[in-house]
Amino acid sequence: MLVLKFGGTSVANANAIMQMASVIRDKNYPGKMVVVVSAMSGVTDMLIKCFQKAEAHDDSYQDLIQELEKKHMEAIEQLIPMNIQIDIKGRIKLRFRELEDVCKGVFLLDEISDSIKARVMAYGELLSSAIVSEAFQYNGLPNKLIDSRDFIVTDSNYLNAKADLVKTYQQINDKLPDAALIVAPGFIARSESGKTTVLGRGGSDYTASLYAAGTQADLLEIWSDVDGMYTTDPRKAKSAYSIPELSYEEAMELAYFGAKVLYPPTISPLVAAQIPLLLKNTFNPSHQGTLISNNPAPSQQVIKGLSCIDNIAMITLSGNVMVGVPGIAMRMFKAVAKENINIYFITQSSSEHSITIGLAEADGNRALKALSAEFEEDIKQGTIYPLNLEAPMSIIALVGNGMIQQPGIAGTTFSLLGDNNINIRAIAQGATERNISFVVQADDATKAVNLLHDTFFISKTGKPEFAEA
Ligand code: ADP
Ligand code: ASP
Ligand code: MG
Repeated sequence: MLVLKFGGTSVANANAIMQMASVIRDKNYPGKMVVVVSAMSGVTDMLIKCFQKAEAHDDSYQDLIQELEKKHMEAIEQLIPMNIQIDIKGRIKLRFRELEDVCKGVFLLDEISDSIKARVMAYGELLSSAIVSEAFQYNGLPNKLIDSRDFIVTDSNYLNAKADLVKTYQQINDKLPDAALIVAPGFIARSESGKTTVLGRGGSDYTASLYAAGTQADLLEIWSDVDGMYTTDPRKAKSAYSIPELSYEEAMELAYFGAKVLYPPTISPLVAAQIPLLLKNTFNPSHQGTLISNNPAPSQQVIKGLSCIDNIAMITLSGNVMVGVPGIAMRMFKAVAKENINIYFITQSSSEHSITIGLAEADGNRALKALSAEFEEDIKQGTIYPLNLEAPMSIIALVGNGMIQQPGIAGTTFSLLGDNNINIRAIAQGATERNISFVVQADDATKAVNLLHDTFFISKTGKPEFAEA
């Protein structure tokens, strides 16, 4: 079994879909394949705008729906012979009437729940998978279209749902049709109570990983618009280049710290089932891409990649009785966790006078409110100082399995940034020493990434500065 996932740009229009079909055809793969597709690029964002407008009682959500319908119909007209378009056009039209009904409901009520948001967002993948399946059918790739909601079982965290692995693998084993080629929508799933959920932005990668692990596939391939995982975000540093091989842990850390090409939860099901992951470029299929596995070939590079997360807020808790008082950190994390807010970064000053956490800027005020409430009494007593939020910040992470044997990486990093007047606001090193991460002011992030990339990846001698002995 081979599982392939194609992202938004790979299904962006009729040309891209034809290119994707030729990638699959050229494989001549003798076994079975599951092809997971994202929504056409930009569609999920537009669906979010639709429900936001409807909720704000702005009837221009209807224009957006019309625009979306036109986009999908155009793709059909270019992909499928005219005399047989009628069936797929009818099915797509039906989906749009459903979407209109849901948005109309939101418009009338001026109100929306996460469950309804997930329902609206699901249309992107429902539409794209139906069109791709039909286009394949008429281009020499007979296939069976499935609905991933019938296979992937999640909790009721509608917009960021987590899969129940046991139930999901069971459903995949029991119900996956016996076809040589299956087309499945990414991103969408169903809660135990039967409601539509979505797996978080970028979640189609995770869908594909669940199908791969559930079928014990030989390989998962994720096809996007870049030649694999780059040494750093190619949009930030022009000198970034594709990394040939990475370990699961390295890939996970790079993804977690902002390498958007891979959705972080994707890796874990693959590790458990020991399934390698290949990142490839739909628009440059002859490039080898990046192979992610348990045993990457040894590399000269100690630092494999450099990730960056923007739009971070930093909250600092400080006080005069924090020394030796147990439980303060616990209260801090509990208060934030209760709000379902993800913490990217924790650091405690050595004197234990302060603890700083890094989280998404969008969650900043909510976290600040929760923490101020939790420590209200302590603040009144004067033992803890009012909390302090700073934003926008960026987290930069250096990632590589070999860093543990290499002294001096942190020193080089900090003096390089210091010499260039970039102030490091907080530092953290994971216990594994696979990662050194630090926080800088958002304005400094791109400059810091480029300075570090040029130092660690392209030295003046043309060799990596920190080569393995
Ligand atoms: P898809 O729609 O195919 O899932 P995404 O937009 O989610 O694609 O991810 C691909 C994008 O990730 C690339 O176009 C690139 O701009 C961005 N990106 C950020 N960091 C990295 C990195 N380290 N390596 C490769 N791409 C990266
Ligand atoms: N379409 C979804 C998104 O834009 C899922 C994905 O593309 O992976 O987030
Ligand atoms: Mg993606």
